[in-house]
Amino acid sequence: KLSTETFREALLEAAKQMEQHKDELTDLDREIGDGDHGINMSRGFQAVQKELEAQTEYEDLGALSKQVGMTLIKTVGGASGPLYGTAFVKFAGAFKGKTEAEGDELAAAFKEATDGIKMRGKSEFGQKTMVDIWTPFYEALEQQTDLHQALDQALTDTKERVATKGRASYFGDATVGVQDPGSLSSALLLRAIVEVLR
Ligand code: ADP
Ligand code: MG
Ligand code: MG
Repeated sequence: KLSTETFREALLEAAKQMEQHKDELTDLDREIGDGDHGINMSRGFQAVQKELEAQTEYEDLGALSKQVGMTLIKTVGGASGPLYGTAFVKFAGAFKGKTEAEGDELAAAFKEATDGIKMRGKSEFGQKTMVDIWTPFYEALEQQTDLHQALDQALTDTKERVATKGRASYFGDATVGVQDPGSLSSALLLRAIVEVLR
């Protein structure tokens, strides 16, 4: 079950994870991008952390999601900033007026967030972007299968794909066998959320 308290807790953990994996995210983006993904995510989640530390109580999951989305849009930059921002703005719509969410309601919110990313990025599953992580994640929520396993499998699968969207697509076949940085940062965020769901 996701509540305003546990979602906030998960986002603070995600901020910690982005710091811990900052260099790894940047190194991956140096291989198949422009080498800024760790820096972008760190900047964004440090700003989120600051806000969550200043405000410990939220009216509902919608208000929390909206604030996080706006902060990510303002601070992350690059291609990933508007994409993560859109995901949280979609959460804000799906969670409006709700202090808790679970089951089908939770799955529907993650599907909406994923659809938002796809629309904003004009992207589809299988192009070696963060969509390759978000899609199997909401499907696992819908089907009530193991969420950690779904994320691990999604990371393994996307690593072997050829990038056909975003900056990485310029690297063509050289992207096979290299983890997509946005997929890794998405898995870090979603793992932190899985940890508080119970
Ligand atoms: P930039 O490419 O502008 O430097 P980042 O390095 O912060 O931005 O983010 C790159 C990540 O964003 C990629 O690893 C990929 O997962 C994701 N991404 C890029 N373009 C798209 C897109 N069109 N749709 C979905 N995800 C995308
Ligand atoms: Mg980059
Ligand atoms: Mg960049």
